[in-house]
Parts: sequence; structure tokens; C-alpha cells
Amino acid sequence: MIRKAFLSISFVLLSIVASAQTQGTIVTRDGLANMDKGARAMYDGNYEEADELFRQALSQLSKLPSEMAYYFGRNSFHLQKYKQAINWLTKYVELKGTSGQYYDDAKLYLDRANDAFKKIKEQQIIETEHKLTTDGYYDCPKDVVLCPICHGSGVMIKNGKFGAVYQTCPYSGLSGQLTCEQYNQYLMGELGMEMREE
Ligand SMILES: [Zn+2]
Repeated sequence: MIRKAFLSISFVLLSIVASAQTQGTIVTRDGLANMDKGARAMYDGNYEEADELFRQALSQLSKLPSEMAYYFGRNSFHLQKYKQAINWLTKYVELKGTSGQYYDDAKLYLDRANDAFKKIKEQQIIETEHKLTTDGYYDCPKDVVLCPICHGSGVMIKNGKFGAVYQTCPYSGLSGQLTCEQYNQYLMGELGMEMREE
């Protein structure tokens, strides 16, 4: 009785293992088929479709064929995912060396991806620097600010040979007010920085 139960459990287990293996074979076959379909889509210029097929293939293949790295890397370049392209194409070149079937193209797209990635990095640095500059912008509580040069009077008084000379403030005019933009220029040292001559 116990022996019989054991045998039937063993049989069930064996069936499960066998079916998992069949399942695995089917999944691998589907994975390779998706990879080939993806490659065709990529060569036809349908990069989004190729990406979808390649990602399916990646999830279906437990061991990746080397050309998968080439296809996915190159397609990532076309989708402007340059870091991803660099990683996969590098993987391909490392795996297959210069004798790989796709070596020339892999190298070509790897160089292109590296160039594009470098340009983006440089652009990001410029944008960060620009942001740092604009981050220093003083946010005025009102649209206009009291002119710090004439102190809001609109008039500048200069001492001349024949006594005080009154002149309209060249920065704010008679209004004695600066726009926020002008005020920031002033803060940056770009406006009204007449230094006192000692
Ligand atoms: Zn002024």
C-alpha cells in the first residue's frame, strides 16, 4: 500500500520534471524565434517592434546566444539608449572577439554609441552649469525693486566743480525702480557697478 503510493508519487514527480523539460525546450525555441523575428524587424528599421521581440526573447532564453547581445545592443543604439547599447555590444565583442560574425558592425555601433553617449554627458554638464547659474537668480517678491543705485529717488547727485549736479538715474530712470531682471543683473555685478574712485 505504502509502496504503491510511493510509486505513484514518483511517477507524478517524473511527469512534472519531464513536462518542465519540454516546457523549457519550447520556451527556448520560442525565444530563438523571437530573437530572429526581432532581428528582421531591426533590419527593416522597426526598432520599437524589434525591442519588444528582443525583450521577450531575453525572458525566454536561459542561455543567451552571443548574437542576442549584438542584436539587442545595436537595436538599443537605434532607440538612442546609448548606455544600454554600449553594455551589450561590449558584451558581444568580449564574448566573440574580433572573429565574431558581427564584429565589424558591433564595433561600428559601439563607436557610434560611445560618441553619442559622450555628447549627451557633455550636454548634461553644460545644462547643470547653466542650472547652477540660473539657480542663483534672486526671486523678487514684487515685479519691481527699489533701485539700489539711486535708492529709489530716480536722481543721482554728483559733486561737480560748481556744486552738486543732479542727473536722472541711468539705470532706473526717474521711476527709481528696477525690473527684477535688471535687479538680478545688478546683483550679478553687471549693472551700475560704478566703483568709487579712492
Ligand atoms: Zn536708480
